[in-house]
Amino acid sequence: MTGAGGRDLGGAAWPDVGAAPLVLLPTGSTEQHGPHLPLSTDTLIAQAVADRAAKALSAGALSAGAGPVVVAPALPYGASGEHAGFPGTISIGHEALHAVLVETVRSLALWAGRVVLVNGHGGNVRTLDAVVGRMRAEGHDVAWVGCGVPGGDAHAGFTETSVMLHLAPDLVRPHDGVTGETRPLAALMPDLVARGVRAVSPSGVLGDPAGASAERGREILEAMAASVVRRIGGGS
Ligand SMILES: [Zn+2]
Repeated sequence: MTGAGGRDLGGAAWPDVGAAPLVLLPTGSTEQHGPHLPLSTDTLIAQAVADRAAKALSAGALSAGAGPVVVAPALPYGASGEHAGFPGTISIGHEALHAVLVETVRSLALWAGRVVLVNGHGGNVRTLDAVVGRMRAEGHDVAWVGCGVPGGDAHAGFTETSVMLHLAPDLVRPHDGVTGETRPLAALMPDLVARGVRAVSPSGVLGDPAGASAERGREILEAMAASVVRRIGGGS
């Protein structure tokens, strides 16, 4: 257990878990994030957002009478096929991700009250939608929420670089002049799907990290966590 209300399932012993907890499960990726950010960026951000949201929910944001809140160990692999052109990327693909999440939710449902997948990687979304639909049809109380913020850029740009400067500055390499493809994601999507990220942005960056700072990263992370708390607290 971590202190101050944020509950780490991996560090808990079974009697600590409590009755029918709300379980937050971070879902990330292991994929290139430009020449300046670590491959674990999405996983670390999802984990940090889930930890902060759990702390806030444990502190009383959740309606009275709700059970304990725990954060499950993060899933570090996702569907990252579009980043396959870069060394370091490990993608398990949509089909395997679907199977992993279905079995994870079924297993959690044996003791959890409610399961919320806290997602840090946009490429996982299609599968998360499918899994949540299927699991609800089986009668499980499950939802997914993303870690985005309004106006955030797509990939390894200002948003993620700032958050990582706050969370893990030792893992952020110099990024002066690491500007990538800055057209909006919607405009890039057909090209990304057809040719992969490397053909669109040789550095792997979709956005521009110029001006990124730890202080902005702290604010962005707080906004991400607050948004997750709002969506969970307000019911799915
Ligand atoms: Zn990312």
